[in-house]
Amino acid sequence: MFDLLIRNANLPDGRRNIDIAIADGRIAALQPRIDAKAREEIDATGRLVSPPFVDPHFHLDATLSLGLPRMNRSGTLLEGIALWGELRPMLTREALIERALRYCDLAVSQGLLAIRSHVDTSDPRLVTVEAMIEVRERVAPYLDLQLVAFPQDGYFRSLGAEDALKRALDMGVDVVGGIPHFERTMQEGAASVEALCRVAAERGLPVDMHCDETDDPMSRHIETLAAATVRFGLQGRVAGSHLTSMHSMDNYYVSKLIPLIAEAGIHAIPNPLINIMLQGRHDTYPKRRGMTRIPELMAAGVNVALGHDCVMDPWYSMGSGDMLEVGHMAIHVAQMASIADKQRIFEAITVNSAKALGLEGYGLEKGCNGDLVILQARDPLEALRLKANRLAVIRRGRIIARSEPRSTQLMLDGRPGMVDAADYAPTTAAEGG
Ligand SMILES: [Zn+2]
Repeated sequence: MFDLLIRNANLPDGRRNIDIAIADGRIAALQPRIDAKAREEIDATGRLVSPPFVDPHFHLDATLSLGLPRMNRSGTLLEGIALWGELRPMLTREALIERALRYCDLAVSQGLLAIRSHVDTSDPRLVTVEAMIEVRERVAPYLDLQLVAFPQDGYFRSLGAEDALKRALDMGVDVVGGIPHFERTMQEGAASVEALCRVAAERGLPVDMHCDETDDPMSRHIETLAAATVRFGLQGRVAGSHLTSMHSMDNYYVSKLIPLIAEAGIHAIPNPLINIMLQGRHDTYPKRRGMTRIPELMAAGVNVALGHDCVMDPWYSMGSGDMLEVGHMAIHVAQMASIADKQRIFEAITVNSAKALGLEGYGLEKGCNGDLVILQARDPLEALRLKANRLAVIRRGRIIARSEPRSTQLMLDGRPGMVDAADYAPTTAAEGG
């Protein structure tokens, strides 16, 4: 007797008509036609069943603060940082917790069950850290939250930042962050990368830096990060977030750089929605896209995980906690239109992101956590195209969110009475024909 049995599922890797049985919070069986009973049964009717979405880069301390204390007029990253600096002294623990919990509700409804959030450690009160640690505990039954100590105003540029970051780690923050391109000089940026990797090595922690989030092709902190990763023996435990300067770099230099990133086992975390919104702001026309080189990084074997970064905060007024929207934007900005490319983008918001976070028990195999999302789409391509409705979200074998199938009644003579957008893809598009 299983706790939950999902029948007739399509899996992201192309397997069809698979039954998935969950017992004691884990996948107990996954095969065609499981001959058994369960306390609860769902017929997926050939819809896509995926492991949950994972967001490897977010700011849970800033989310849903849009308009406080004012809007970002220039739309630039730098005004966003200044605006957050105005808001910071007004932040209270209670309001931070309330907004973060509200965002996690939204995330769960979208099948997003693991988030890595940077937490600003610039305010010596560390009220953001206190609040996010409490949120991490409160959401633990339904969402895995990892916290990064993020010196938003610079590790060397801001007085007291070194001490505050270490106190945040002492309080139980999981990952060492950084922002080398925001330090006063290139040299201090590089020195901050070295110093922060040393902190991580000494404490046995992973690293995830905002790295080269700029259109300046001379911003090459990723090179220093790759070298420091190897020197401190941190391979596989370091992530470079954004890496937007790579968009504007010289091709010859990039041909040296990408192998260095691959050698160091660095996880690349572009944030397509934010990159396309914030980068290229000093350009007239043509305007650069400012997203890093995703297909080239993937081709070199680098683990590329896509982040949402912001939802309704000083940097980004849009967003809905939907990782399919993040993937949808990546497909456009990187022009990854082939079937294989779209499949890779689906992996970038699921398995690749789980790998970047080092999540245990993630995946669709026997023994993995009983965490699943049933989508109103047949396959990953359709899920990305439609930003498909989440019919059910399952955590450790328990249904924690559910939606009615989305359809529209049509009142046109001689035409069908009902439209379900998920039925409209030509079958050849999904079959690879
Ligand atoms: Zn960020």
